[in-house]
Amino acid sequence: MNHQQNDFQPTLDAAFAQLAAVDIAAYSKSRNAIGGAVTRLSPYVTHGFLSFPQIAKSVATQTGFNPQHKFVFELGWRAYFHHVWAALGNGIFTSLHQGVLPDSAYRQALPIDIQTASTGVPVIDCAVQTLTTTGYLHNHARMWLASYIVHIRKVHWLVGATWMYGHLLDGDLASNTLSWQWVAGTGSSKPYLFNAENVAKYAPASWHSEDTVLDASYAQLDAIARSAAVPNLKKATQAALIQTECPALFDVSHSAIFQSPTLADLIQLVKGRHVYLVHPWSLGELPANLPTDALVLGVIDLAFHVKHPWSAKRWAWVGARMQALCGRCYAPSFNALQALLNLASSVQYAPNPHAAWLSELAHPQLTTAGMPKLFTEFAALNSYYKSFSAWWNKTQMKALE
Ligand SMILES: Cc1cc2nc3c(=O)[nH]c(=O)nc-3n(C[C@H](O)[C@H](O)[C@H](O)COP(=O)(O)OP(=O)(O)OC[C@H]3O[C@@H](n4cnc5c(N)ncnc54)[C@H](O)[C@@H]3O)c2cc1C
Repeated sequence: MNHQQNDFQPTLDAAFAQLAAVDIAAYSKSRNAIGGAVTRLSPYVTHGFLSFPQIAKSVATQTGFNPQHKFVFELGWRAYFHHVWAALGNGIFTSLHQGVLPDSAYRQALPIDIQTASTGVPVIDCAVQTLTTTGYLHNHARMWLASYIVHIRKVHWLVGATWMYGHLLDGDLASNTLSWQWVAGTGSSKPYLFNAENVAKYAPASWHSEDTVLDASYAQLDAIARSAAVPNLKKATQAALIQTECPALFDVSHSAIFQSPTLADLIQLVKGRHVYLVHPWSLGELPANLPTDALVLGVIDLAFHVKHPWSAKRWAWVGARMQALCGRCYAPSFNALQALLNLASSVQYAPNPHAAWLSELAHPQLTTAGMPKLFTEFAALNSYYKSFSAWWNKTQMKALE
């Protein structure tokens, strides 16, 4: 199977097919290579199609369940980033500590040649084109792109993180923001650097970047990272510039997908009904205990999406699944939603930290059930662990049912 070619479909069938295609032995051997056997499950994880216990159970049929397997460890990284987010809240959006240079040394805008994949550095242009056209990027390519943006082009990590988050179908505020901080050196003890030799080892030939600014030793790259000056941006002489379009991050309020039903219609629909709220991070199977006459209503928090915008591609993906699940999508203010739900007989939804606004809802018959977890949650640990290894030693894996 060519792991780079398959497209993501926003359906449960596609999510389960992707899960069935996981080859855990090949994953261990080749996961660092751009064409390696990574699972590409992340869009389905972020948007709630698949839970970690479901994934672990499926993988266990190949290997038996080995909690020390590299794959389980990677799932752990995602859970750890959520642990940090739960502990620090919006604190993850500021540098956890100073990196190699003060925050003020970095630019506040992403240069246009990066956005249009026309830097002349093949690894960067290929990575940007893959990101903006497919909505997915291999982990190694995310690290390379982030490192180039921060340490070579001197762009603040938060600017890069916001841009990448919006284009990824799997954009997850905890994993994305904290990975960028790790690369920048504001969430780790040193900056993440890479060179042309590293790219040649793990990427296809068209990505190779000899004769560019990356064709340097690690000592030279470290000196570049520690200087506030942008180095001479040599372009590869052989590289054809890709020059892709620069898709804007999209304003959801312009989207036809989320045009609200009229309030009068909604009042009629909701009155006296059991209402199940679907949001963009709960796109999996509807709960088994849902009454057959329940009203399934899609809701969007516009304020969140103005702050953390998505590409039109990601909206189309999420929107297609929301429409398949509930047909009706509504983008109300919190007060309007609360007033509407006061008319319902009962309310139910799946909590998610990206949909934090729903946690303020009140109703005498309110039930919530989040995605099943594989690792101990922050609330149960009741302590913030500043390093992944300290957290990994304390967390306990739930038994697979
Ligand atoms: C700069 C940067 C930005 C990132 N932004 C995101 C993001 O917005 N959303 C996101 O889900 N991941 C993010 N990651 C982590 C990682 O790159 C992706 O989770 C992974 O590439 C998804 O592809 P996959 O499902 O094929 O991964 P696989 O390697 O097959 O892993 C399976 C699952 O484990 C989890 N996982 C694997 N590696 C990591 C990791 N290093 N950190 C956290 N979780 C991991 C993911 O849920 C993934 O779906 C980012 C990494 C970097 C370096």
